[in-house]
Amino acid sequence: MTRVILTDIEGTTSSIAFVKEVLFPYAAASLDPFLAVHRTEPEVAAILDDVAREAAIDRSDEAALAAQLQQWMAEDRKVTPLKAIQGLIWRNGYETGAYRAHIYPDAAEGLRRWHQQGLALYVYSSGSVEAQKLFFGHSEAGDLTPLFNGYFDTTTGPKREAASYRKIALAIGEDAGEILFLSDVPAELDAAAATGMQTCWLQRPADCPQTDWSNPHPTASSFAEILT
Ligand SMILES: [Mg+2]
Repeated sequence: MTRVILTDIEGTTSSIAFVKEVLFPYAAASLDPFLAVHRTEPEVAAILDDVAREAAIDRSDEAALAAQLQQWMAEDRKVTPLKAIQGLIWRNGYETGAYRAHIYPDAAEGLRRWHQQGLALYVYSSGSVEAQKLFFGHSEAGDLTPLFNGYFDTTTGPKREAASYRKIALAIGEDAGEILFLSDVPAELDAAAATGMQTCWLQRPADCPQTDWSNPHPTASSFAEILT
């Protein structure tokens, strides 16, 4: 019996392309105008301090700091001050309506239906919990945050390790067997299944036209096909 749905975001509720084609280009294009307006705010100034320290750049040379951030973005580096400034720029973009988060219509419909049926809904994504809340708070289907009971990110643990799913089941307070995990990545589904969770492999034709017939997980190409 399924009492809880635990869902991934990219490739599952939403297209992988949104992050690559909307969020990252927006951060790159908005960095300079964002810094021009917000550079002296404590949160932003602290990030610039970190950039200066990390890259050994003179703190007063703000053009060089901005150039360093642009270079890290171009190289897709996972540097803490870069992630921090991107987070602020994306929050600003959501709040000013520069874009809305992509969600497949069947996913929004499925989440609403399960919520109505009394299932508890949780997110597990590699994006930070704050980013997840912004994402579902400003989606193409409106504010979906009232549907969710909670959010997990990689501070709970890596998505391909069974221990992370054990921790999540414990935090949710349900037996793993009553939780259905949805993802587009078989290695994540394997880790969840190892704890006794139910699984469903989302194969979004737009995202990953892959087929692996040896894969043990039930598959669905949309939320309408998921059996709970
Ligand atoms: Mg995914």
